[in-house]
Amino acid sequence: MLNIVLFGPPGAGKGTQSQKLIDKFQLVHLSTGDILRSEIANQTFLGMEAKKLMDQGILVPDEVVIGMIGSKLEANPLAKGFIFDGFPRTKAQAEALDTLLLQKGTAITLMLALEVNEEELTKRLLLRGKESGRPDDQNPDIIKKRVSEYNTKTAPVAEYYKTQDKYKGIKGIGSVDEIFNNLCGELQVQN
Ligand code: AMP
Repeated sequence: MLNIVLFGPPGAGKGTQSQKLIDKFQLVHLSTGDILRSEIANQTFLGMEAKKLMDQGILVPDEVVIGMIGSKLEANPLAKGFIFDGFPRTKAQAEALDTLLLQKGTAITLMLALEVNEEELTKRLLLRGKESGRPDDQNPDIIKKRVSEYNTKTAPVAEYYKTQDKYKGIKGIGSVDEIFNNLCGELQVQN
């Protein structure tokens, strides 16, 4: 199986590049942010509780997202592989993911990390907020909080994969196709 963690701060381009990787490798896309937004749209209890945190730019509890990923892995027994987008965001989530994958007899192949500076991220997120209407992309203070959550809780997850020799950093600035080419290069396939 090909199991990729697509990593990077909010606004790094994970959603865009995920879509291209899915099309190319027929992977199942697991984005915890998308799953949470669909819970909110369906007005489930979980969605309503998560929304209170998401609206402030704060991470939802580990057990909530780990449970969601566990169910999605169960629901896709025939998948050729998975692309994890926006997950894991803490070391506890990374450890839980390893355990879940081990139970399926598989493991993470690589972490592909999109590297983008904070100034560029803020610019992109504010633009996305205007275009998509996502509330957490429209307010500079919430964006700051999300980037700070990323720096304190999520950035250390890179170390977790570095120690397993699975980390690949990719410059996340440039055209969509250029970045995709570089991602494919790390996967040692031709685009
Ligand atoms: P995203 O769409 O990945 O930017 O996620 C939007 C928001 O959903 C984040 O700011 C968090 O509040 C929440 N969220 C998404 N994925 C996770 C995760 N893996 N762990 C904790 N919170 C998450």
